[in-house]
Amino acid sequence: MQKRLEIVDVIFEKFEKTKKVNNEFLLSLKFFFPNVLESAIEIVDTLETNKNQKKLEQKFLKGDLNNERIQTNSSSSTKLPKVVLFETEKSKRCFVRFESFSRNTDAYLIYPHHYCSCPDFHYNVINRQKNLFCKHILAVRIANALGLIEKREIKESEYLDWIAQFEN
Ligand SMILES: [Zn+2]
Repeated sequence: MQKRLEIVDVIFEKFEKTKKVNNEFLLSLKFFFPNVLESAIEIVDTLETNKNQKKLEQKFLKGDLNNERIQTNSSSSTKLPKVVLFETEKSKRCFVRFESFSRNTDAYLIYPHHYCSCPDFHYNVINRQKNLFCKHILAVRIANALGLIEKREIKESEYLDWIAQFEN
């Protein structure tokens, strides 16, 4: 398990430098994450669409676009995932808050390299040791390298308050 995680880290280190989603990268991920890669890519695609949509809206608001129509569909936007990476100012401790798009009441806490609070992580990663990551961790690592995740800086004192919100 540990050895495989180290190899995955090397794959990601390379990806973070090139930021290229090429065949080599996808095949390596397919090898290590046969069960969750497809769902993770779907999440990354949605985050990319969100980001492009936001860019388009900002251009529109600045008056750069005159004739292009901006499609805003409020019923579909409630289904989009909201993924925010929180990082502390000094120590750079970070976590990700992932609001699911399928069940919008769910929010997961993710430490990008180690942990996700979703049921799949507990069942298939911790208990059965079937998968190395759940789809959320994989998606967050890909999307973060591609600059698709919104980042917010928080104070050191706010860090524990945020983490506590996930504990029931
Ligand atoms: Zn998860």
